[in-house]
Amino acid sequence: MLDRFQRGVSLAPFTTLKAGGPAELFQMARNIDDVAETALFAQREGIHTTVFGSGSNTLPSDAGVPGLVLLDRADRIEIEPDGTVTADCGCWFQDLFLKTVQSGLRGLEFAVGIPGTLGGALVSNAGAYRSNVSEFMVGLEVVYEGKRQWVEPSFMQFSYRDSLLRRPNPPQCAMLRAKMRLPKGEMKASYDEAREDQRQRIGKQPPPASAGSFFKNVLNKELADSLDTLTEGMKKNGVVPAGYLIEAVGLRGHRHGKAMLAGKHANFIINVGGASAFEIRDLAEFAKTNVYEKFGVTLEEEVLYLGDWSGYTKTA
Ligand SMILES: Cc1cc2nc3c(=O)[nH]c(=O)nc-3n(C[C@H](O)[C@H](O)[C@H](O)COP(=O)(O)OP(=O)(O)OC[C@H]3O[C@@H](n4cnc5c(N)ncnc54)[C@H](O)[C@@H]3O)c2cc1C
Repeated sequence: MLDRFQRGVSLAPFTTLKAGGPAELFQMARNIDDVAETALFAQREGIHTTVFGSGSNTLPSDAGVPGLVLLDRADRIEIEPDGTVTADCGCWFQDLFLKTVQSGLRGLEFAVGIPGTLGGALVSNAGAYRSNVSEFMVGLEVVYEGKRQWVEPSFMQFSYRDSLLRRPNPPQCAMLRAKMRLPKGEMKASYDEAREDQRQRIGKQPPPASAGSFFKNVLNKELADSLDTLTEGMKKNGVVPAGYLIEAVGLRGHRHGKAMLAGKHANFIINVGGASAFEIRDLAEFAKTNVYEKFGVTLEEEVLYLGDWSGYTKTA
């Protein structure tokens, strides 16, 4: 199987930030049996594997990603009359919304505008407008510890924009399929809700290339209460948007090489054309330092740094 893998494939085209170096080994899988066989082989042979979805929440190092990058393009979605949905983790999250709505289900309206796969959505417990993907999970098929098996949602240890697979040195685990249960809904109401969410997004989001929000929002009631210009709703929930803090330290529109904190939304880092991954990370580190110095909180990246960052040194 090792002969089937490509070598030195640049990952930049597979990320929405359009940055990053090569994968040591690379394989695209178009169905879950292919994902499973490849992951089982890699786990048996001790080849470190990174499963890639749409690359919309990841920044691979310029030095590359050692081991195998397995691009998950398995995208089957099956829906049963009782509202049980079984979907391949490589399916486009927005397709999952469309297919479930067309089957008379609701719940995934927030997926519209999230340009990733279901797998990537599960790893970061993706969400928007107070909904998260983990709410609907009833099971997950994985290749883990050398076995193809179904596990309970608790395996993932979901929390706000977080799961087991986001931790430092996460376990080797390829997600194959998710089983979800969605409530019955009315198609028009779902489309209206999704359209309204999308309208709000278009107003706020800068143009590509980005990975969406670079940092997680800060959950800190004391800080929220201390900020005069924060909305009452955010104060009540103790949520401080990362973009608010970056803007407050005067970095909206700040540029470092070809990377820029967007003028329209300070929590988006944009690759204005040809930015290296190191430049992007440098800009993120610069924002973190400035926010820490003024507010005493450390911003936590929502974007995942992948691969070998040992040669990176902060310069910004
Ligand atoms: C314009 C824009 C808007 C966005 N808006 C939102 C938003 O509103 N809310 C939100 O939560 N996010 C948002 N995002 C971020 C991103 O789209 C989501 O996190 C998305 O779910 C990531 O999916 P992906 O397929 O691109 O994951 P990738 O970036 O490919 O991967 C993310 C992580 O998941 C792992 N992974 C992926 N698939 C598998 C698998 N099958 N098995 C094991 N591990 C896997 C990868 O190894 C990596 O660690 C936005 C991004 C952009 C560019």
